[in-house]
Amino acid sequence: MISKDEPGARTPDVAAPAPVDPGPVDLDHAATTRVRPEVLEAMAPYLGDRYGNPSGSHRLARDAVRAVDEARERVAAVVGCVPGEVVFTSGGTESDNHAISGGMPPRAGTPVCSAVEHHAVLDVVEALDGRVVDVDASGRIDVEALVRVLDELGDDVSVVSVMAANNETGVVNDLDRVAEVVRAHQPDVPRAPLHTDAVQAAAWLDLRVVAAAADLVSLSAHKLGGPKGIGALVVRGHTQLRPLVLGGGQERGRRSGTSNVAGIVGFATALDLVAHERDETNARVAALRDRLADGLLAAVDGAVETAVRDGDRSAVLPGICHLCIERVDAETLLFLLEADAVMASAASSCSSGAQQSSHVLAAMGVAPELSGGSLRLSLGRDSTDRDVDVALEAIPRAVERVRAFG
Ligand code: PLP
Repeated sequence: MISKDEPGARTPDVAAPAPVDPGPVDLDHAATTRVRPEVLEAMAPYLGDRYGNPSGSHRLARDAVRAVDEARERVAAVVGCVPGEVVFTSGGTESDNHAISGGMPPRAGTPVCSAVEHHAVLDVVEALDGRVVDVDASGRIDVEALVRVLDELGDDVSVVSVMAANNETGVVNDLDRVAEVVRAHQPDVPRAPLHTDAVQAAAWLDLRVVAAAADLVSLSAHKLGGPKGIGALVVRGHTQLRPLVLGGGQERGRRSGTSNVAGIVGFATALDLVAHERDETNARVAALRDRLADGLLAAVDGAVETAVRDGDRSAVLPGICHLCIERVDAETLLFLLEADAVMASAASSCSSGAQQSSHVLAAMGVAPELSGGSLRLSLGRDSTDRDVDVALEAIPRAVERVRAFG
């Protein structure tokens, strides 16, 4: 028997550490984002020992009230409003529905919105027989067309809704200009409120500027490192709104339902972090996005940046690169990209997960042969150089394969 120490003894094979799989590349941050560790940490106590219902009157309840009050103050500080103007909701969809309908029963008059709004706005406007205003070729609301619609409607306007930034193309609207038009149209208070869906914008734009232009602002936590199912409707002081969800009278009677305390704390934590890091994050992510967009435009023939004119990306959110690619079927492209560990999307995703044809691109007048090959690549705070490198390899290869399939 050979002892272990003798010459000729075989040392057992030490398995080499398995390479760490860096995981798929997430280029779909506009759909949702990972909950940040700081946010999870802030939420955890309210899912554990501090589980009180703020509607109660004992110690646990008072603890929950304090948490919600503090969160409301933090959200208000980021938005530049007073805490009483922040109404917590179940997220962007509810906030949008509430803002457009004006609550129960719906606000009198005709709601007006732009043609590229998220369905959470557009579908409510259409259900209330409202008016939809055209956008220009880059997807911004056509302000002259808005003036014409407002003139036609006269006093019969219940709300005007124009999103701060679009969820597909990332295009940012000139809200100050829109506010000017709406206020000139109805100088007397009470007037039809201006609502803005800032669900996509909130991770990138200064919300104090957005909220200064609007009377109603929709926000959602899961687009900025917070949990799903929580958001807010900011209702500026002078704006009249009936509740949409009736019941226990929470949120000072403006939105009933037991408060989602952990979600509210998570939302406020995420929004606060985003606001403090905004300048640094925007610069870093925009540089990644520019490298990605420039690389793809150089490598893929027949690719155009959908909302960008003459290479000027200043009016597009830093995280979004939206391309339309000739002779490509978006669904097949996404399938091949996923096989290559790149997660992206074509338009916004609907509940079935299927890619819907885009009402946004149609409103912008993008030809069907181009919009059929739409690709939304959305980066976030945790995007890296490696993500861009992988995408720059995978996307041109996938486009070639789609075209080879015919
Ligand atoms: N508005 C915009 C612009 C969005 O992008 C989304 C989500 O994709 C929503 C509203 C809906 O928000 P939530 O998912 O919080 O209901």
